[in-house]
Parts: sequence; structure tokens; C-alpha cells
Amino acid sequence: MNLIVLGRYAPFPAAGGACSGYLLEHEGRRVLIDCGSGVLSKLQSIVPLRDIDVVVLSHLHGDHTSDLMVLRYAADADLRHGCRPSGIHVYSPTEPSEEYSRLSYKEAIIPHGVGDRDDLVLGGMRFSFTAVDHPFPCLAMTVRADGGTFAFSGDTALCPQLLDVARGADLFLCEASLPHEEAPGGYRGHLSARQAGEVAREAGAARLLLTHLWPFHDLSRLVAEASEAFGGETALAEEGATYHV
Ligand SMILES: [Zn+2]
Repeated sequence: MNLIVLGRYAPFPAAGGACSGYLLEHEGRRVLIDCGSGVLSKLQSIVPLRDIDVVVLSHLHGDHTSDLMVLRYAADADLRHGCRPSGIHVYSPTEPSEEYSRLSYKEAIIPHGVGDRDDLVLGGMRFSFTAVDHPFPCLAMTVRADGGTFAFSGDTALCPQLLDVARGADLFLCEASLPHEEAPGGYRGHLSARQAGEVAREAGAARLLLTHLWPFHDLSRLVAEASEAFGGETALAEEGATYHV
């Protein structure tokens, strides 16, 4: 598998950057994970939008979903012009229901609900979903293909089930929303960089990639903090970079 980082920021993009968005590729097939602000612009420098037919949303907060609200126009136009065989299948939690009900669009966006412990093969890759701790229901995911394991935290506070998600991952993409001293007692629905490193260490992950970065934080401090807690290979997710799993 290859992971291409499209966007790494939250809850709004830095200038020229994008919010949560990751393209997972395997044997010429692709799944887009999350579709936040700025992701469509980044995505088109890699693949035409008509090549995207599966999207997975970790949860329904706007910094993970907002560009889906315009991707639907591209998909609808491509369908009308015969440039794509079908609409885009979108897999996400079904709550909050008012957010979920906004996803469907003509034949262009076809939503499917997924939940805790669901297992699905998408784009030839096996996705295992785990509910984590966030104000909106959020699904972390472990993705396996060809003996490689990729894990993504989604948005979450520290919770025991995150260890299972990251257990033995070759690459663990984990949110690191803030420096630890900013909220030593924990922060509602999010992880500090130190906590991301601790989870990676306890789970025995091989590599840690930090994402969900708030533009106003000192990013070098976040990576130093996570790296110290993990003790293994740690980096900030770089937009446009490809990571082999
Ligand atoms: Zn969120």
C-alpha cells in the first residue's frame, strides 16, 4: 500500500495547506480517507477526480468532510458527461443524523453507514473500524493489504481501544492536536503529541506519522515531544508526500 498525504491541518488549513485528507493506494486502486477543506485541490495534482469512487470519512466534523460538499458537483458533472461509470460510495458513521443526511447527492454521492467493529474490503484493502473517543462519533481504522498494516487514529482522546487500532502497525498515522503541557490532564476529544507517541510505543507501531496539526502550534515542538515518548521513527505528515506501507 501507499499512503499519500493530501492534508494534515485542523480545524482549518494553514495558508496553501489542507485539512484532513489521505489517499490510500493498492495495486492501482484508491480509497480517499477524509475530505476536509483544501483536499480536492491537492487531490487533483495526483489523480483526476473521476478516478475517485470510494471515500471513507472517519467522522462528520467539517474539517474532515467539507470538500465532499463540492466533490459532489464534480462527480455529478462527470456522471452527466459519461466520464465516470458510477457515483462515489461514501462510508462514514451515521451520527449526527443531520450531518449524515446531508451527504447524499443525486446519484453522485451514495452514503453507507459503518460502525464500531465493522470490517469491509474497499479498493482491495481490508478496513477494520473501531469507535474512538470524540464529541462526534468517530471511527479509527486499521487497513491491511499484502502483509502491510496501516492504522489511522481519526480524531480521538486517549482511549484503550486506540491501542488495538495501532497494534503492530507498520505505519501509524495519529492525530497530535496540541503540545502536552497545554492540556496535561487531557483535552476533550484530542491527543497531545506526547500521547500520540505513548500510544505508538505501547502498541508496538513501527513508524509514527503525526497529523491533525493546528496551524498556530510550533510543529517542530510537537514532533520532538512525540518522538521522545515513542522512541521510534517519528515525523510530521507532509502534504504531497508518499509513504510506503
Ligand atoms: Zn473532529
